[in-house]
Amino acid sequence: MQMTEDIIRNVVQEVLAQMGNGAALTNGKAPSRPSGNLGVFSTVDDAVTAAGAAFQEFRTRPVADRRKAVESIRKICVDQAEELGRLELEETKIGRLDHKIDKLRNAIARVPGVEYLRTDNDSGDNGLTLTDYVPFGVIGAITPVTHSLPTLAGNAINMLAAGNTVVFNAHPSGARIAVEGLRRFNKAIREAIGLENLLTIIDPPTLESAAALFDHKAVRLLVVTGGPAVARAALASKKRAIVAGPGNPPVVVDASACLENAARSIVAGGSFDNNLLCIGEKQVFAVAQIFDPLMEVMTRHGGFRLTAAQVDALTQAAFEKGPDGSLHVKKDLIGQDPAVLGRHAGAKVPEGTQLLFAETGADHPFVNLEQMMPFVPFVRVSNVDRAIALAKESEHGFGHTAMLHSRDTDVMSRMGKIMDCTIFVVNGPCTAGLGLGGEGVLSFSIAGPTGEGVTTPLTFCRQRRSSIIGGMRFV
Ligand code: NAD
Repeated sequence: MQMTEDIIRNVVQEVLAQMGNGAALTNGKAPSRPSGNLGVFSTVDDAVTAAGAAFQEFRTRPVADRRKAVESIRKICVDQAEELGRLELEETKIGRLDHKIDKLRNAIARVPGVEYLRTDNDSGDNGLTLTDYVPFGVIGAITPVTHSLPTLAGNAINMLAAGNTVVFNAHPSGARIAVEGLRRFNKAIREAIGLENLLTIIDPPTLESAAALFDHKAVRLLVVTGGPAVARAALASKKRAIVAGPGNPPVVVDASACLENAARSIVAGGSFDNNLLCIGEKQVFAVAQIFDPLMEVMTRHGGFRLTAAQVDALTQAAFEKGPDGSLHVKKDLIGQDPAVLGRHAGAKVPEGTQLLFAETGADHPFVNLEQMMPFVPFVRVSNVDRAIALAKESEHGFGHTAMLHSRDTDVMSRMGKIMDCTIFVVNGPCTAGLGLGGEGVLSFSIAGPTGEGVTTPLTFCRQRRSSIIGGMRFV
């Protein structure tokens, strides 16, 4: 009997695969679901409907099938990292190829899947109560251009592990790689467990399609990763939203710090993918006592120091005035190589340079705006409390990420409390806060504004309680 069902299912899947679009014929009638192309849909409604139908099937499957789906995604990210990383760089034209590959090959491998799920229990004289973590249903997810496919892949792993299905609306400038990756994931998932459309995506994505996803009644939960505008829009939405918003991570270096480790960490974190990481080191406040030696050590770890005149030239190229007169980061230099920034600064940057740096004032635009470029300004301050106060100011209350280099445990406690950030890294690069050289799991969506923190499969679950009264008690 089971054999016959398996054969029929395989035949049906084969037919669907040859149609290449997931459309199903039922009793000779027209397809009951909108057709897509390995999860790619041109309208929000079709994508949500397909993901909704996929959820109804997915929820009947064992957790082992979720594991297979997640493993299919991880395997593609690892095995195809070079090709996919190159495609992402060619399309978005921001960041670095080695780090684009690293994000898929090494970072995605650390995103938790079904192994992270658990059941909580309370056992007592009156019986047993279980709290299970169960899926929401269809999740609407918005992803950024800075890590288009890694965010999609990381979200997909967490959300499918939790038993949900997903509709993605990617950033228009990173949409081709998002679509390509999602098609590959869906093909592998279909081969592994025979289900279509666990992941869907809107192509082409627009601000209108994002708004339609926000409002769609069949979307149970929104997950938004991006800058201030989309974070505001998601927070204003009537639907429950998990918001991974912008940051502007400061670094404080005090007199007790190991300067070698501080410089190595600032270069490693601030240069990663040309400083596109939302957790990346964006500005440094160092106490006067160690300021000059720190600047000197920076040059020994891949840093290249700009002069004041060169910083002025770079600032002219990197920022522009908006209609309201305030300064904005120009798109042109975001995520560009140090050599490109150097040309705009009028500096000949030696080959192998990872990060540009220079001394600036605390009120410099490179300090106060989230600039996402491999140039980090260093501000000289009289003492560590002043450094922490300026760090707090420069972070603008995002509560995202901050770094400290210090051997003084009082300073660690003081700064940790004052900054009140979702990620606080002491004596390491920012990436250590996501388990790369530090402890803990990794995510590309760090939900500060709504409080979920580094997202995991549990972030995308509802809690459901089952109480068995007067039984199942073995004590
Ligand atoms: P972005 O805000 O320009 O775009 C992010 C996404 O939101 C895109 O898909 C975009 O199309 C969409 N979008 C933008 N405005 C919208 C609106 N008004 N309504 C609906 N959708 C809208 O950001 P980006 O340049 O792609 O990414 C960089 C930003 O994202 C930085 O600010 C960075 O700090 C932040 N970020 C945060 C995290 C995190 O985990 N907290 C992770 C990555 C990036």
